[in-house]
Amino acid sequence: MIRQRQPAEGPIMKEQYKNIYTISALQKGPRLLLVAGVHGDEYEPMLAAMELCGRLEGRLEKGTVTIVTVANETAYTHGQRTGTDGLDMARICPGNAAGSSSEAAAAALSEQIVAHDYLVDMHTGGALFDIYPLAGYLLHQDPAVLETQRRMAAAFNLPLIWGTDASPDGRTLSVARDAGIPAIYVEYGGGNTVSTTIVAAYVEGCLSVLRYLQMIAADGFEQQPDKIEYHVEDPAPDGGFLQGKMLSAFDGIFLPEVVPGQQVVTGQRWGTVADPLTHRQYPVVADRTGLVLFIRRSPRVKTGDSLGGILNINNDNNERQS
Ligand SMILES: [Zn+2]
Repeated sequence: MIRQRQPAEGPIMKEQYKNIYTISALQKGPRLLLVAGVHGDEYEPMLAAMELCGRLEGRLEKGTVTIVTVANETAYTHGQRTGTDGLDMARICPGNAAGSSSEAAAAALSEQIVAHDYLVDMHTGGALFDIYPLAGYLLHQDPAVLETQRRMAAAFNLPLIWGTDASPDGRTLSVARDAGIPAIYVEYGGGNTVSTTIVAAYVEGCLSVLRYLQMIAADGFEQQPDKIEYHVEDPAPDGGFLQGKMLSAFDGIFLPEVVPGQQVVTGQRWGTVADPLTHRQYPVVADRTGLVLFIRRSPRVKTGDSLGGILNINNDNNERQS
């Protein structure tokens, strides 16, 4: 279905394909892809994507913006991270057009990624985690791509800029990496609520990336104050893999005792796992010193579930700290 919402003389928005909207300016320019809903339980990115459709319509000066409001529809339909096939779309890119629902969605999204010049993939902690606001990128081997990613991440204006090992596959960012397309992802909050603060930050962040790419004029959009606190680049293998951190040694109900952004030291109380079947309470402590990058918000934990993660921040790896 093609839906025209604007007179033909201005930038028009059309529904290009299911959940995919394109806004094109008359003047040629960068092609930017904004993605929400790779994970079906991350709602702020979807709301930001919807709002951006309205905010950009008629205001784009140069190039094309494609907005994906829900990348994995069966995951969203069930309000869960993975599709109904049980697959995490952020592990199976570039997907398979003839495969299961998530594989086909990954193939459709990957096709979009390689047809664009820049990618912003928006996430949250979903139902499980609350994450410190960050804009991340892979430490791309091409210095020009890497520098553009740093600038896009800085433009997005969240407290943490985080560059990590470029080797993981299956991600939207790895599809972009292989095509030499500058790409960032953003994470913020999560935990079974919807935050209008996060929606607003994502809308402003995307608009700021559009300004950086000179696709919209600087005037008419309010410049936000600089919110960047940390810029960390860590090439350690799988350093950006959130689910792999601080695994619970116990089964029970998790009560967090720290919040994202807090500084903790090794051994500091992180939370408690209470087991109502055995009447036992197990203290959980920080396994290293650093910044609380994310913490579990979903109460029911099983042995081996992640309870959160700590980011090592020091003078060597933080450019912003003085
Ligand atoms: Zn996600």
